[in-house]
Amino acid sequence: MRGTVISVVVDAPPNVLDMQKLIRRDETIIQTEADWIGLLPIRSYMLLYQFSDGGEVEGMEHSRATAIEVPASAIRADISAIDSVTAHEFFHLWNIRRIRPCSMVPVEYTKEPYTSDLWFSEGATSAVARLILLRAGLLTEQQYLDRLGSLITGLENTPARKYQSVEDASRTVWLSRYPAYQAPDRSISHYQKGELLTVMLDLLIRKETEGHKSLQDVFRYLESAYGTEGR
Ligand SMILES: [Zn+2]
Repeated sequence: MRGTVISVVVDAPPNVLDMQKLIRRDETIIQTEADWIGLLPIRSYMLLYQFSDGGEVEGMEHSRATAIEVPASAIRADISAIDSVTAHEFFHLWNIRRIRPCSMVPVEYTKEPYTSDLWFSEGATSAVARLILLRAGLLTEQQYLDRLGSLITGLENTPARKYQSVEDASRTVWLSRYPAYQAPDRSISHYQKGELLTVMLDLLIRKETEGHKSLQDVFRYLESAYGTEGR
């Protein structure tokens, strides 16, 4: 990370976490992602955390920053509760900020941009984030497989998987704040199925190339061919 300044800002009640532990985990995640894709194309970046009572795990990516919210109770119980969302949001630095589907260029902020591709922007980001945590030693192999198993079970237990495609789920993401739309017989999660499709893509590439290529090569190619500053 030579030449890049990473700032970590935390808004939390007293004694929620050890800041040095958080910083070490963030450094590990950022370094592992930069090594995985082969570059760290930023001079500065800010991780802005809010650990409050109540609330959910949320994150929002920006070009040079991310805002992340995690319940303080989860952090108190186990600081690793922050890892997945940190790895996911930081990988958006590439997948969506620098590598963006044509259907999202330019971003139209005055109305909903209907896109079929959100499953890749979000699902592949989650898949890479999970691989990064495994590589970095922040997830064990068993924890990685358990997570994959729960994703598969979750999708199998969602009846809407039989009639809603992951592209349809991407297009209708605007409805996802309505509880009726979130019912398992009404919609699937483009995050969940997108992550599983990306894992399957990785496995297929490894099989077809006899282990010589993988998802990593896909992202290295996308970054070198399409990675663009300033989005
Ligand atoms: Zn995301």
